[in-house]
Amino acid sequence: MAELTDRQLSQYARQLILPQVDLEGQLKLQSTRVLIVGAGGLGVPLAQYLAAAGVGYLRLVDDDVIERSNLPRQVVFAESDIGQAKVGVLAARLQSNNSDVDLDPRLCRFEPDSASALLEGIHLVVDATDSAETRRLIDRTTFNLTLPWIMGAAVRTAGQWAIFDADRKFGCYHCLMADGSHDGAGGCAELGILGPVVGLVALQQALLAIKWCLGADLPWGRLQLLDAWTDEQTQISLMRRDDCPLCSDASR
Ligand SMILES: [Zn+2]
Repeated sequence: MAELTDRQLSQYARQLILPQVDLEGQLKLQSTRVLIVGAGGLGVPLAQYLAAAGVGYLRLVDDDVIERSNLPRQVVFAESDIGQAKVGVLAARLQSNNSDVDLDPRLCRFEPDSASALLEGIHLVVDATDSAETRRLIDRTTFNLTLPWIMGAAVRTAGQWAIFDADRKFGCYHCLMADGSHDGAGGCAELGILGPVVGLVALQQALLAIKWCLGADLPWGRLQLLDAWTDEQTQISLMRRDDCPLCSDASR
């Protein structure tokens, strides 16, 4: 069994003493390869916490450059970073936090043409996009490869998140949003977003990802919804829809 170095024992000391993590869990984190789709309001805090926890490999996918209007949410970036590619700056900052992490920034979008290359060698996918269409593509492509994925979305003062199992025993994103008819009026650029709200959703996703790496019990089949303004939190049970175009028995 692999061992941790003295530096690693020191760096991860506070989480290593948790019985839920321990040496065995830390080694599991180190051996996990995660794809994060999007390096914006969700992707930045998510990547920071996964890298800092010692997740061994992070592939970061985004083709945007840093804009001034990103700074209230994407707090890893500085004013002097404006105009630079997000994935490059983010990877450098993550590496400076944790030299253990193998970082693989990809300056592109997750699209039908790029998806299979971006998913190669990946164990878990985390959606940090602002696009229901991209989520459906993540759902389809991970379903075909029997990979689990974690969705997250935030707009205005509300957020939602869910984890989908590799086999979609508890339903899939297509059971919720099979086509584009419920994609909503727009994203954060049109409707606005409060920084800590998207941060809350990102950290829920980070927790789910870490717990998945550690083999913990997870809230499969549940979409979690939060209104951060009223502090109301609700859950919707996901059910595999008999007529789901992706995961129903008829379409398998
Ligand atoms: Zn489904």
